[in-house]
Amino acid sequence: MDYGMIGKIEKAKRYAEQRDRIRIDSLSVTFVGENNDHTVHIRDGGWQCDCDFFQTRGRCSHTMALERVLDGLQGVPEYAD
Ligand SMILES: [Zn+2]
Repeated sequence: MDYGMIGKIEKAKRYAEQRDRIRIDSLSVTFVGENNDHTVHIRDGGWQCDCDFFQTRGRCSHTMALERVLDGLQGVPEYAD
């Protein structure tokens, strides 16, 4: 491996630990469910999910799981309540 790539890998390791350097502008995720897949979006500063629970409650297991995965990143929406 060339010297340039080794330097980039080291930089990537540092960046990965500095999660606040990463800002989500938009995101689309597919949750592979036991019965159905579900699609979660972050867009326009809010969460969206296509599952039934989200339609009535504004949050669901999919958005809350993703919130945990994305913990510490900029641009993770707050819930409206
Ligand atoms: Zn959902």
